[in-house]
Amino acid sequence: MIDFRSDTVTKPTPAMLQAMMSAEVGDDVFGEDPTVNKLETMAAQLFGMEAAVFCPSGTMSNQVAIRCHTQIGDEVICASNAHVYIYEGGGIAANSASQVKAIDGNFGRISAQQVANAVNPDDLHKARTSLVCLENTANRGGGSCYDFDEIKKIRSVCDENNLRLHLDGARLFNALIAKNETPSQYGEIFDSISICLNKGLGCPVGSILMGTKAYIKKARRARKVFGGGMRQAGFMAAAGIYALEHNINRLAEDHENARQIADALSKKSFVKDIMPVETNIVIMQAQPGFPAAKIAEKLYQKGIHVIAISAEQVRFVAHLDISPLMVAQAIKAIAEI
Ligand SMILES: *Cc1c(COP(=O)(O)O)cnc(C)c1O
Repeated sequence: MIDFRSDTVTKPTPAMLQAMMSAEVGDDVFGEDPTVNKLETMAAQLFGMEAAVFCPSGTMSNQVAIRCHTQIGDEVICASNAHVYIYEGGGIAANSASQVKAIDGNFGRISAQQVANAVNPDDLHKARTSLVCLENTANRGGGSCYDFDEIKKIRSVCDENNLRLHLDGARLFNALIAKNETPSQYGEIFDSISICLNKGLGCPVGSILMGTKAYIKKARRARKVFGGGMRQAGFMAAAGIYALEHNINRLAEDHENARQIADALSKKSFVKDIMPVETNIVIMQAQPGFPAAKIAEKLYQKGIHVIAISAEQVRFVAHLDISPLMVAQAIKAIAEI
């Protein structure tokens, strides 16, 4: 089976495993795991941010981030298909007692004008708008990337309205590679950034939340409350260090693989549309009469594992464990169905 379901399915390479097994560890809840400390410092420096905290999952990083930016009854602005809103188990309500103002974006991207329009007036009938969450790349937008100028404009709207700005950067490195941008550009603009190590970077586990020193101190407490204080987490952090050192630039290969899959799909009559492929995700829309589940099943019979993410949409994700040969096999399977 060739697994195109998600970039979360990767398994550590022998070199990554070696780095994990030889990690120096300690009790990170006491702040004594040298490898976790090294990873956190490394990430903060990379982004030019003051501090970082290592979390077990991207969901926890995002939820801790939102918890530390909001108060009970606040409102969070994000895209209507944002991960923080639709894929984190109702976490904004459950963990932060806050509500969402969801905006229909352009392939998962919201504009500065839309954010400005969504801010509530200072009126006791209204929830207090306190936070904007962006997602780059946008998962349900087909791995789309923000235009950095638009992010700057959103920052201005936040400043004018006293709002914090969080980035769900689960796949931020894909965006950086695709758009030739730098981590520090992002570190300068956002109040907090979460990145995933367990997606394209190929780690088994892990995410990092970054922000100011005071904010990350607060985040460490929230992580503990959420049950995310880990002890000898250095074994996992070592994978993260390895990934930041070795697995960023190769994301370009995943992007090329995704483009080739999209190319093969574009020749098929059952495909109505394909979202613009900017990074490692391909989301196709099927013609009426061709259920996504059926397409996924046909591919499965040919050894290609994909996900029907809705009744009409099929998703392919390229990642570290997908080789050019596997892409060729997928292209052949697509041609045959
Ligand atoms: C995967 C993902 C996350 C976090 O996922 P975890 O599985 O909890 O690590 C957050 N945001 C986006 C956009 C994602 O794709």
